[in-house]
Amino acid sequence: MEYPKEWQLDVFLSDYPCMKVRPSSNTFLRLVGDFAFTADHPEHGELSDIFRLEISVPRGFPKDLPIVKEIGGKLPNLKHPDREDFHVNPDCSLCLGSPLRLLMKLAETPTLPGFAVCCVVPYLYAISCKLKNGGNLPFGELAHGRDGLLDDYAQIFGLTSRVSIVKVLFLLSLKKRDANKRPCPCGCANRLGRCNMRFKLNRFREIACRAWFNEHAKQLYLSLGEDKVLL
Ligand SMILES: [Zn+2]
Repeated sequence: MEYPKEWQLDVFLSDYPCMKVRPSSNTFLRLVGDFAFTADHPEHGELSDIFRLEISVPRGFPKDLPIVKEIGGKLPNLKHPDREDFHVNPDCSLCLGSPLRLLMKLAETPTLPGFAVCCVVPYLYAISCKLKNGGNLPFGELAHGRDGLLDDYAQIFGLTSRVSIVKVLFLLSLKKRDANKRPCPCGCANRLGRCNMRFKLNRFREIACRAWFNEHAKQLYLSLGEDKVLL
């Protein structure tokens, strides 16, 4: 597969010289090797560590998120009861953050070095602290799975109810013009088109496509339980 120059693969490979390009499929660029980093945090100090990673970058990057797996055996494996404490997903990929949060970061630095610095390193820094010192991850920890997603999206959209968050995702799956005719999810009793909320939402249209929001809305809808009737 051809890699767009804008991905800055060459910069990534010189920043992480022990990561190599491995035979890749038509749909993914596969990067494998020792990912060495040094990061600093005002409270937790400077830290260097190395993790063996496999990073699969989809053709649709940066609007599609890479999948990162730790393959050096440093993190608990699938059967380990602590797996969730390290934010490892059931498919062994690392839970670097909520998809929307990661896409927001990538929209600002839509390159492979950007992904490494903004999405991978902060996760590995926190994991490394936890491995060295035990206890919880040193940053405000989100709940796992759908609860974690909904909490994070509540922050991102500035909404508290889960129903309104799912409504927002559905609105983002519609064309702007159609979404503006629907009731605003902020509780203002106006159409979206008459509320300032629309400016906030429109910014998200640039970081993911309508089909992505549609799929995401459907997944979160399933987690609403009895609140589904409010939608
Ligand atoms: Zn409103």
